[in-house]
Amino acid sequence: MTASRVLVLNSGSSSLKYQLLDMADGSRLAVGLVERIGEETSRLVHSPTGSGTRERRGAIADHQAALKAVASELAADGTGLDSPELAAIGHRVVHGGTRFTEPTVIDEEVLAEIRALVPLAPLHNPANITGIEEARALRPDLPQVAVFDTAFHSTIPEHAAHYAIDAATAEAYDIRRYGFHGTSHAYVSRAAAALLGKAPAEVNVIVLHLGNGASASAVRGGICVDTSMGLTPLEGLVMGTRSGDLDPAVVFHLSRVAGLGIDEVDTLLNKRSGLLGLCGDNDMREILRRAGEGDARAKLAFDVYVHRLKKYIGGYTAVLGRVDAVVFTAGVGENAAAVREAAVDGLSGLGLVLDGAANAARSSEPRLVCAEDSRVAIAVVPTDEELEIAAQAYDLVTR
Ligand code: AMP
Repeated sequence: MTASRVLVLNSGSSSLKYQLLDMADGSRLAVGLVERIGEETSRLVHSPTGSGTRERRGAIADHQAALKAVASELAADGTGLDSPELAAIGHRVVHGGTRFTEPTVIDEEVLAEIRALVPLAPLHNPANITGIEEARALRPDLPQVAVFDTAFHSTIPEHAAHYAIDAATAEAYDIRRYGFHGTSHAYVSRAAAALLGKAPAEVNVIVLHLGNGASASAVRGGICVDTSMGLTPLEGLVMGTRSGDLDPAVVFHLSRVAGLGIDEVDTLLNKRSGLLGLCGDNDMREILRRAGEGDARAKLAFDVYVHRLKKYIGGYTAVLGRVDAVVFTAGVGENAAAVREAAVDGLSGLGLVLDGAANAARSSEPRLVCAEDSRVAIAVVPTDEELEIAAQAYDLVTR
């Protein structure tokens, strides 16, 4: 029997998301989540494919306990971590810096290098590292593969990666555009090419990953040439709670005039801005509902969100020169027909013409939502970051 299963772990500061996939056919054996790790009210939700969801409530002290709880749920399904069918564990790692541009089998040296990148991703890499350490402790003999959110963007040219700041300072502190959501942009740009019946190398696409975090990328012939997130996931599009692009002088102003400390500004821009900051809600469903009832703040939040999207669609059209498809993905991109409609409204000059009925129809399949005469395709492609992580990890360990 060939080992063909991959356990994908996405370890956050107080959560652990996981999926067990079988790469023989890409099927999912289980998906689950442990949340509120370290609190009294921790919760584990485990959904094995084909049988009922199980839920466990009660304190789960730390990531070690969380992973043990996950392992015991998987064991109860006969798919435990000791199964000979398990080929690898794939870990989502947010920041790979300039060092990691490919999925990488984790050893002590790699782990130390991921640790060295913590200053670039203080909110994310420490949690990813904890997940790796605990998984290695449970199965030290099994290949553990790090798949980096930044990797797909490592191909962006120097002129897109550089900020126009003092070169020596930028170099000393590794300041450049790295980009994030890379596994999603990789998966979705490839799936969009397939939807067009072409090879990735034949098409230029703009991918709009619109979830609670949001990012855009320009992908030429399967290679990423620009992306909206930067040194951190704060730059670019308007997000659920993050501001995206803003004049950096806002930070000085808040410091000098409002007397905010640097950590307060960090929290303001990352956690209390974006849609939430603009109107008090970060869920697009709620914003659409409120806007529909005539709520002016919700309408403004929607308009600011869409205006930014349009600027990136236009900007990346200029970057790519020729665009074959604009592709919407993630929670908002896949589900909010009103956002897609508003984002391409008035862009027929760029070749984008929506088909209203196709756009309004709900589906969980990759699909075209453009009119017959749209020069540039408009597509909705559900993302699947876990499948992409599992596929990359499996490819690496079976190469
Ligand atoms: P993600 O980060 O990709 O899971 O996306 C989460 C976001 O998707 C939520 O915060 C919602 O704003 C948005 N979302 C999910 N379902 C819908 C929907 N049916 N309509 C509009 N927005 C949605």
